[in-house]
Amino acid sequence: MLCPLCLSESKFAFEAKGFPVRDCVKCGHRFAEIAADEAHVARVYDDAYFSGGGAGYSDYLADAEMLAARGRMYAAKLGKFAPEKGKMLDVGAAAGFILKGFVDSGWRGAGLEPNERIARAGREKLGLDLRAGSLESFATDEKFDLVSMIQVAAHFYAPRTAFRKAAELLNDDGLLLVETWNRESLSARFFGQNWHEYSPPSVLQWFSAKGLTEFLKEFGFERVGGGRPSKKISGAHAKSLLKYRLGDNFLLKLIPDRFNFPYPSEDLFWALFRKRAI
Ligand SMILES: [Zn+2]
Repeated sequence: MLCPLCLSESKFAFEAKGFPVRDCVKCGHRFAEIAADEAHVARVYDDAYFSGGGAGYSDYLADAEMLAARGRMYAAKLGKFAPEKGKMLDVGAAAGFILKGFVDSGWRGAGLEPNERIARAGREKLGLDLRAGSLESFATDEKFDLVSMIQVAAHFYAPRTAFRKAAELLNDDGLLLVETWNRESLSARFFGQNWHEYSPPSVLQWFSAKGLTEFLKEFGFERVGGGRPSKKISGAHAKSLLKYRLGDNFLLKLIPDRFNFPYPSEDLFWALFRKRAI
């Protein structure tokens, strides 16, 4: 199977949850060997992903305020790169809470979400422009000043198509914000094959900050900023993740659902890219 980023040969690395995980021999990108298509997106991101625990969200709607705070945090970080703000597209917007954080900070825009039911809930509850669909198949003549992908890129089944589309959707000098798992983080190295993010089929792509920057040059993106985000997750979400990892354990009952834990964001990175004319 060819590397989904640079189209070079790849080699088998290990198996995770029954799926082969492969490494590109040229760029080092790591990915799951899954013949993914639109049906896959619809299947993995069905309602259970957002409310059934497992590798998804235990109760996505309960995390509303935390996600809005995340949007505001990134809007603040982007201030010096886009003082005028402008029009944005949040990819994988779910019910729109992160987008809401941006909108509250002065951005205008829309969100794109594969799950129609979740997108509708966000439209009705928050009055946001949330559209059902995936980036790979998004057809529009609109242009944006910012495309954001918060914890989305790891799920792309066709990353080349997705990032090419992001470049097409942006005005010249527009910004692309990506937050995703860091394959080269300390915890990823420490846990090896047992790292919690090796969880196909919902996660398909494992990037490194450097690898993403190199890959995006092809589409005219120049890295202008980045770092490690701080993050908090609810007790319910933490328990869901731990249960997925460890199975039922009586200690998990001791974690209160409504308590917000600082999450080891050491294994996440964010990066901001500016689109240059190519
Ligand atoms: Zn590659």
